[in-house]
Amino acid sequence: MTNSKKDYQKILGSIQTPVEGEAGETGTWSSLKPIIDLDKCIPVKSGKYVCFNCWLYCPEGVISRTIPPEVDNRYCKGCGICMEECPVQAITMKEVKIK
Ligand code: SF4
Ligand code: SF4
Repeated sequence: MTNSKKDYQKILGSIQTPVEGEAGETGTWSSLKPIIDLDKCIPVKSGKYVCFNCWLYCPEGVISRTIPPEVDNRYCKGCGICMEECPVQAITMKEVKIK
């Protein structure tokens, strides 16, 4: 079982970071973005590299596997999958003004 930050960094080596393509920064296509309640977020509360369902299931790869997890709104399409997959309902989708 992989649990350490080092192990996850090895896995992350094969995952691409989102970059601006021909369509520009696709996060501007939606105004609903995930807001993470850090009081509920499991890795924040435990201080351990556990859960990260939001990172795992985000189809755009825009949530970081960090404590706390962070969302790159420049490329988040607002699908809400992260909210659905969070086991403790720490994520809500809210209107966010994108620059
Ligand atoms: S709303 Fe969709 S694209 Fe945005 S962070 Fe969540 S899963 Fe990823
Ligand atoms: S799925 Fe929820 S509890 Fe798990 S890391 Fe993401 S926000 Fe935190």
